[in-house]
Amino acid sequence: MNFALAGNPNCGKTTLFNALTGSTAHVGNWPGVTVDKREGTYKKLEQKVQIVDLPGIYSLSPYTPEEVISRNYILDEHPDCVINIVDATNLERNLYLTTQILEIDVPVVVALNMADALEKSGDRVDVKALEEKIGVPVVSISALKGQGIDELMQRAYAAAQRPREGRTVLQDSALAHLIRDVQIALAGQNVASPLFHAVKLVEGDELETKAHASTVKMVEAFKKTFTDDTFGDDFEALVADARYGYISKNFASALHKKNTQALTKSDKADRVLTNRWGGIPIFLAILFAIFHLTFSENFLFLNGFGDGWMPTLEDLGMDTGNFGVQLLACVYDGTVYSPGVIINNLWNNVIVGNLFGLLSGAVENIGVDWVVGFINNGIIEGLAAVLSFLPQILVLFLFFSILEDSGYMARVAFILDRIFGKFGLSGRAFMPMIMGFGCSIPAMINTRTLADQKERTATVRVIPFFSCGAKLPILTAIAGAIVVQFGVGNADFITFGMYVLGVATAIVAVLVMRNTTMRGEVPPFIMELPAYHLPQFKSLMIHLWDKCKHFIKKAFTIILASTIVIWFISHFSFDWKFLADEQINESILASIGMFVQPLFTPLGFGAQLQNWGWVFVVAAVTGLIAKENVIATFGVLAACIIGSALPEDEEGISYVVAMIDATGITVPALIAFIAFNMTTIPCFAAVATARAELPSKKSFNWTLLFWLVTSYIVAAAVYTVGSWWWTIFLWLAAAVLISLGIVWFNRRKKAV
Ligand code: GDP
Ligand code: MG
Repeated sequence: MNFALAGNPNCGKTTLFNALTGSTAHVGNWPGVTVDKREGTYKKLEQKVQIVDLPGIYSLSPYTPEEVISRNYILDEHPDCVINIVDATNLERNLYLTTQILEIDVPVVVALNMADALEKSGDRVDVKALEEKIGVPVVSISALKGQGIDELMQRAYAAAQRPREGRTVLQDSALAHLIRDVQIALAGQNVASPLFHAVKLVEGDELETKAHASTVKMVEAFKKTFTDDTFGDDFEALVADARYGYISKNFASALHKKNTQALTKSDKADRVLTNRWGGIPIFLAILFAIFHLTFSENFLFLNGFGDGWMPTLEDLGMDTGNFGVQLLACVYDGTVYSPGVIINNLWNNVIVGNLFGLLSGAVENIGVDWVVGFINNGIIEGLAAVLSFLPQILVLFLFFSILEDSGYMARVAFILDRIFGKFGLSGRAFMPMIMGFGCSIPAMINTRTLADQKERTATVRVIPFFSCGAKLPILTAIAGAIVVQFGVGNADFITFGMYVLGVATAIVAVLVMRNTTMRGEVPPFIMELPAYHLPQFKSLMIHLWDKCKHFIKKAFTIILASTIVIWFISHFSFDWKFLADEQINESILASIGMFVQPLFTPLGFGAQLQNWGWVFVVAAVTGLIAKENVIATFGVLAACIIGSALPEDEEGISYVVAMIDATGITVPALIAFIAFNMTTIPCFAAVATARAELPSKKSFNWTLLFWLVTSYIVAAAVYTVGSWWWTIFLWLAAAVLISLGIVWFNRRKKAV
């Protein structure tokens, strides 16, 4: 048996799907999280039932590719029952879709979800009354709390036993008459669900008129005899109005509202959080707070802003060899660490450091030099470099998940829409972009929620600029090393700044594209804002666990394989002679690196670096496979460069420190290096996704070029402005000239 879950976006379909099938699919408190159908099995009935989670839809007349998936599934795959999930806190609007599903010849059960939230608000739905009026079973459930789910499934199972004929709420006599005529004609052609198709044909639905071209003429002829005072011959509006009219007259009476006047808590919070002037500063402040909690080595700036006043543990006369003191040093050592840094310290100093230390000690016993070198540097250092960032990645994701699940991220899209909508960038497009903070791949797939193909292309292109989890090690390691080595700034400021730079680059790039090569109408942003709610512990943990599994799996597969390859090509010359660590400059890797290196001179990590400068270029290239590789590459090569054992703590950071020492690279160049990696061609998997989501090979090729050019410009700007501040005027002048050029060109085009 096969049940389909259908409903509006954000009504809780995926939550119910997870509860039914025990899956851990992504749930987010914003519309449009699920863009493809997903299947699982429910086992608590007499027979196993296949459950299909469909993308959210507001109506069965689809506008976007992912809406088509849902419509076609319900119509063509003949599920045994459609479970129509209805958000009880938003009854009227949700029932709009219900009235359309009811027109199909398929068993339907309505799941009245969010019963818990409804109860909290004090409102009440009379389920019995609603059931009588709708004419199919209605079950009140809470997908989140797992209430009523088994009853829902039993009633769906019972409903699935006998066929059901479609029924419509379009009872207005003239309209009903018109629909009935078309229905009879379609039934004569043996069309399945004739009622549904008849209504859609009358509405003039695009997919239907294509599918039933021969009937369209007849429908037009029928329509001629029919004119309406308010809508003329706009049958789509006419039908929609009739549906809403019926819903508010007949169904809505089942809802007993406690109090219609008072502002809900969500409304009150939104007065502040989505405030016209305060919205963006509040968003930036929240973002900074997150980075501060995750990365700051000077928590709440307790140690002051300039030179710190707090004594180190050694100053206090403590024995740093003592294990208890070492634990204490993870929390406080001359400054108070933020929670993210504390967890990271514990993980690295107590777990990873010791574990890998023991391991490399054991490997030394093998005695064969190249084998020891290969295992210790080719395998262990590379892995350690990447794994050392796991805790901070998880902490950052915890915060992002909280923002998402609480409903705040949807507000961010709303705020940004208000500012950038005028310039061709809609709030809807910000949703996938914000998803990009997690991983570009689901984010690019999520662009299927965008109706306009040009907007979609532009969005896919800038998604990688929203720095993903895999890029985090680059930011953290380099920011940490800058603080250690140059004593400038705080790691949290640098990481925050880089994230903001990525977002700003994305916005500028989209605006430029939307006003030049990717012009198009901005569809109005009609997403309604979901209610705020407390994030669910369970769903947060599922999120983190997924992230953790994914990261570790990647570390032991693709990253491990890459570091092994890097070790080999850095220890062999082109004539396949094995090289000792000191001879690495003669290796295949170094030769290639040195050849390309001069290209990066304007970015600060090219010809101006000493001997080892090619390492940066090589690291950036290995990042094309997986972004974690950038730091893993430093890990593999660091031993050759300093020629001795590495300091045990802060694995990833110490590798970058080694690189700074060896190459003499400057702070602006390091920041430019981060910027380059953040905005250049993303990892292999993301590139493949982009290829699949972009409309053509040509547009994909342009996208690759776009990434290269953007990263080059952004990194060059960072480096030059960081090194010679006055160059900012040159960049600004160039930006102004280009903008004026675009405006002028568009004016002229319009005039023609
Ligand atoms: P979908 O877009 O329909 O797949 O909806 P999701 O399953 O992603 O859920 C959207 C939001 O509604 C999430 O934040 C869920 O935690 C929340 N949610 C889902 N079911 C319930 C419920 O029964 N009660 C409450 N209070 N929230 C729910
Ligand atoms: Mg979903």
